[in-house]
Amino acid sequence: MNLKLNAEEYGPEIFSTPMPGPVSIMGVNVIPFESYEQAVACVAERIKAKKKSFCVAINPEKIYRAGMNEELKTVLERADIGICDGVGVSIAARVLYGQRVSRCTGIDFFYRLIERASNVGWKIFLLGASPQVSETACIKLQQQYPMLQIVGRQHGYFNDSAAVIEQINHSGADMLFVAMGSPRQEFWIAENQKAIDPYFCMGVGGTLDVVSGNTKRAPYLFRRTGTEFLYRLISDPKRWRRQSVLPLFMFSVLRKKINAQIRMNAQA
Ligand code: UDP
Repeated sequence: MNLKLNAEEYGPEIFSTPMPGPVSIMGVNVIPFESYEQAVACVAERIKAKKKSFCVAINPEKIYRAGMNEELKTVLERADIGICDGVGVSIAARVLYGQRVSRCTGIDFFYRLIERASNVGWKIFLLGASPQVSETACIKLQQQYPMLQIVGRQHGYFNDSAAVIEQINHSGADMLFVAMGSPRQEFWIAENQKAIDPYFCMGVGGTLDVVSGNTKRAPYLFRRTGTEFLYRLISDPKRWRRQSVLPLFMFSVLRKKINAQIRMNAQA
């Protein structure tokens, strides 16, 4: 069964809020949502239509690694909704196509979806993080959104995926948020999506650590300027290896642009 959903296939006849056509950033599709409201509306339409969606927060690191890892590339290709998580992705869209793609960060999108879930009654399941973080995050979310239906949670250090899937399906959740870090969470979702009942699945990385208070979110100035990665690097220098791909990503974007320009000039 092909679970891919996009505006071309299902279009406005089924979805009254059609998804904007994707922008390909180095071969990875990103949906240029104009606002969080539009992104949430697209998810709402899909849930209403009982269609499955796999959402991935796309950042330069994932795109760069997908260029070297065929398996990751295939997983990202299978995603129905790629959101523009990193400022580097916005810059790449501007450089390659002159197109403005607003950021829709994973954590902000998570909070917006949770807010909508608590308003309309979508049931959610939280998978991932340490047992302590998972528990505290649930308590905090429940305090913040008393109407939110958290129908299940499971920490992210398990061996038996089949048992976890049974737990998820038994909970009757509409949405599954997987916080097991990237790309582990994306591999897990892609591998198990057919067996998972919730309509909407999304990898949320370290979001539950932030929700629980275990990790601090980057201060406003870093968020405003899209430089959260710098803050994360300063507060956790061990991440340097992961983040060292950022300049490599920008370099490959520039190289692609220059090559395209050279080809165009040669044809003119
Ligand atoms: N994690 C997990 N299972 C694992 C490995 C990691 O649940 O096998 C959790 C970990 O406890 C943390 C999150 O995944 O809560 C990783 O967060 P990180 O900030 O590294 O994710 P990123 O957003 O950078 O991918």
